[in-house]
Amino acid sequence: MSTPELPDCCDIGTEEKEASSQKVHKLRAKRDQEDEVDPVYKKLSAINGEINRMTVKELHDKLRELKLDVRGTKDILKKRLKMHFKQRKLMKAKAKPPGDSTYDYLIIIDFEATCQENNLNYTHEIIEFPAVLLDCHTRTLVDEFHEFCKPLVNPRLTEFCTFLTGISQEVVDKADEFPAVLDRMQSWMNGHYLGIDHTFAIVTDGPWDMSRFLQIQCNLSKIPFPYWAKKWINIRKAYSSYYSCKRMNLEEMLTNLGLKFEGIQHCGLHDSRNIARIAIQLLQDGCDLVKNEFLHVAPPSPGARGADKCASGKTQRDSNEKKSKSSEEMEQRLKELKLESKNFVDENEDLLEYHRLQSA
Ligand code: AMP
Ligand code: MG
Repeated sequence: MSTPELPDCCDIGTEEKEASSQKVHKLRAKRDQEDEVDPVYKKLSAINGEINRMTVKELHDKLRELKLDVRGTKDILKKRLKMHFKQRKLMKAKAKPPGDSTYDYLIIIDFEATCQENNLNYTHEIIEFPAVLLDCHTRTLVDEFHEFCKPLVNPRLTEFCTFLTGISQEVVDKADEFPAVLDRMQSWMNGHYLGIDHTFAIVTDGPWDMSRFLQIQCNLSKIPFPYWAKKWINIRKAYSSYYSCKRMNLEEMLTNLGLKFEGIQHCGLHDSRNIARIAIQLLQDGCDLVKNEFLHVAPPSPGARGADKCASGKTQRDSNEKKSKSSEEMEQRLKELKLESKNFVDENEDLLEYHRLQSA
């Protein structure tokens, strides 16, 4: 493409002439930049082709030579090597390299809830609330929040629940109710200036922690759904799309990365830490984790705590009312719940399948 030149015959003022000449310079600079980046992408495409043809041994050798992680399946090794070259080439061409994190921090949350064996319609209440804080720039875990909560609808844990989660009756009996724990968790977030000085996103394993457990719990507790939990990163989705593989559960994702689950499964804190290890690996492999799931939450009902800040003197009445709430009323509220998450039908079926697999 020829560079647009100003025709000599044009009689234009000095200011206009300057503006036009600046425009020409900008166009030239843009074209030069494109010329520079374009061959880089051509080269990268050739490199990717080479990587696709490499055997596992060749991939290991190359990664070792570059002092990169050699753990993981062939697809993960290929992705790691491709991203390494992409970052290197783009940096050389002074183009924006991939791998910069969108957020300063990630908060990894994995709730544990009351449950009953073979009962998919059980009214789950959150009994363990862990949150692990991951600094995306240093890719390290910097803090943890961890508390248990007292369930109200089914205050007695089933044997199955204790067996699955390792949470005893005494622990939940001594714990505070969910709203107080949520308040403290939010103070913990404020203490880290999350959403104030630093950007952050929530990470969960699957859609259910936010779209099911938290949604149900907020409704039962009659509190508004927290604003920060309306959009989140479903790590299963991010993982399968980044490494181009099928959706996997937590253990499978770890195995695929050549890692082992550390701690006890279905302990909320241990689950969260292991999800965080996957997030760190994704970041290290150049994946920019971004929110990929959201929940449409209807505005809180007029009786919801916090919905009407002017309703002074109402809190005591609310808490008395709460104590007298029958489980039928609770169930009615649950029926009123509207879950509208992206791909919700799929994911909900996935949850049933997940429980079936867990039971098996
Ligand atoms: P997880 O994060 O996989 O530990 O599960 C979170 C919650 O889902 C548990 O605390 C239980 O309330 C519920 N859950 C998980 N697996 C099962 C299962 N096999 N049967 C019933 N509930 C389950
Ligand atoms: Mg768990």
